[in-house]
Amino acid sequence: MSDNKIIELPDFITVRDLAETMGASSIDVIKKLMANGVMASINQEIDFDTAAIVAEELGFEAKSEAEAEAEPVDSADLPEWRKIIENVDESKLKRRPPVVTILGHVDHGKTSLLDRIRSTNVADGEAGGITQHIGAYQVTHDDKLITFLDTPGHEAFTAMRARGAQVTDLAILVVAADDGVMPQTKEAIAHAKAAQVPIVVALNKMDKQNANPELVKTQLADSGLVPEEYEGDTMVIPISALKGDGIEDILEAILLITDELPIEADPNGPAAGTIVEAQRNKSRGVLATILVQNGSLKQGDALVAGSISGRVRAMFDYKGNKIKSAGPSTPVEIMGLSDVPTSGDMFESVKNERTARKMASEREIEAKQAAKSKRSARTLDQIFSQFSKGETQELNLIVKADVQGSLEPIISSLEKLGNDELKVRIIHSGTGNIGENDILLASASDAIVIGFNSEPDSSAKNKAATEKVQIRFYNIIYRLIEDIELALHGMLEPEYVERATGEAEVRAMFRISKVGNVAGCMVLDGVIGRNDQARIIRDGDVIHEGPIGSIKHLQEDVAEIRKGFECGISMEKFNKLKEGDIISAYVIEEK
Ligand code: GDP
Repeated sequence: MSDNKIIELPDFITVRDLAETMGASSIDVIKKLMANGVMASINQEIDFDTAAIVAEELGFEAKSEAEAEAEPVDSADLPEWRKIIENVDESKLKRRPPVVTILGHVDHGKTSLLDRIRSTNVADGEAGGITQHIGAYQVTHDDKLITFLDTPGHEAFTAMRARGAQVTDLAILVVAADDGVMPQTKEAIAHAKAAQVPIVVALNKMDKQNANPELVKTQLADSGLVPEEYEGDTMVIPISALKGDGIEDILEAILLITDELPIEADPNGPAAGTIVEAQRNKSRGVLATILVQNGSLKQGDALVAGSISGRVRAMFDYKGNKIKSAGPSTPVEIMGLSDVPTSGDMFESVKNERTARKMASEREIEAKQAAKSKRSARTLDQIFSQFSKGETQELNLIVKADVQGSLEPIISSLEKLGNDELKVRIIHSGTGNIGENDILLASASDAIVIGFNSEPDSSAKNKAATEKVQIRFYNIIYRLIEDIELALHGMLEPEYVERATGEAEVRAMFRISKVGNVAGCMVLDGVIGRNDQARIIRDGDVIHEGPIGSIKHLQEDVAEIRKGFECGISMEKFNKLKEGDIISAYVIEEK
């Protein structure tokens, strides 16, 4: 066996693609080909055998894709539901309907499109009769089923992904032709791309007089979705959700794209899937809409979902009909869980209820332990140590800046950083405050958030704390670039954090000649040191911040003073202390 890195190649490949696969330059590949007597231009296709020779000379071992496909798949690449079930028999996999999500900017027509598709195409033409929404539905087109997740917006999408769920096979991005690419459009693109889900653009509101499809297409191209007519590979389909124009084309496009994808499951295997949404109903108990992703879930099956167990007491399809069994890609509402599970949690069917309860309680213990030793924030430092252990090849960043004018130079400089092994990948950028969505996306993609003159709003701050997402703030571009560059090389300056040391209250003021004003204090908490920094808090406001000057105890200078002792404190650069002020001391330490 050679030590060469293995690459998979198709029967024919262009010089450019071959170079890209190896991370080599096209020129090097062309040179090697010439040395072997083959004259090829960059766009020319060469056959597998020729490509394999060149690859070997450049330090790679080429395998044909057809051969590689026959090999067992690395479990790390498997969808979550496949990991849950051990021993999925590859030979038993059958095609299942694709699962589609609708994303886009507010008011661009996501709900209208979902409603329109539902009302014109639901299976069996029973549309009119559907009054309940269970969070998902199915339609038939060309005799093929398509499953739609009925919760528009990328919040749901990302919240699920943050929990590790991979539910969607394709995203429809709705863009209003009279409004164009907006901030949430860009966010949606980032979310779908981060999840590696293909995108079809529905160019909506084409009925409007001020629709400007050409302008929107250039905006899409600028946002990384190059329309097919501009030689890109994004399908952009003009529609009017209001009038019902183009709906068939959307369904057509969904089938066209998903037909090419390996969308499969074993309908007879063990049932597993994802919780789409769930709530408690007063008269019916816990109702959960779930998406079956493998196997067939049957009435009476015992199951666990996260740390919740139960038995399928009754099961309903999206039309509210009672059903006995649900196969892959079928959304169903089930009754019978012991408690409300979290959206995005995976479920699986198990032997019996006793097993389900046992697994659920084991998971609860695991979850509690995991919460205790909760994954620490993914900091730049840690990312470097992962780099050096060979665990990570990409530094994922989300960049928010106050204005477009700063965003562009930041992004273009960041994109130039890194090398073949370590890459900077900007998964999302935008202007404005850092929002909760940015944090969710960061959490789902293990990214760091960069704020350039941009602050998190309060919900984002809380989310960042619970999701342990690191936010770094800058106001000078070169400092930002320098930091990321240093991080890539593992040379980041240590981070400093503040640690509170003690707190004292001013009880009386004295004037001592030569020393100035000294505050007679009582230490309320901790230990205050002479070299500490302190904030002076008066009526709840910080009125001064700076170094402590001296601490005296019974006329003597002391190095520190503890809780419960009286002392005289003077500040180095502030002599207007007053009775009632709180001196809150701290030190700055390396993290
Ligand atoms: P969402 O926020 O993306 O779910 O958008 P909605 O589906 O709620 O639509 C927002 C508004 O745009 C509503 O007033 C719709 O009636 C209108 N709308 C949606 N699609 C169309 C369309 O194709 N043409 C026109 N003229 N209006 C539309």
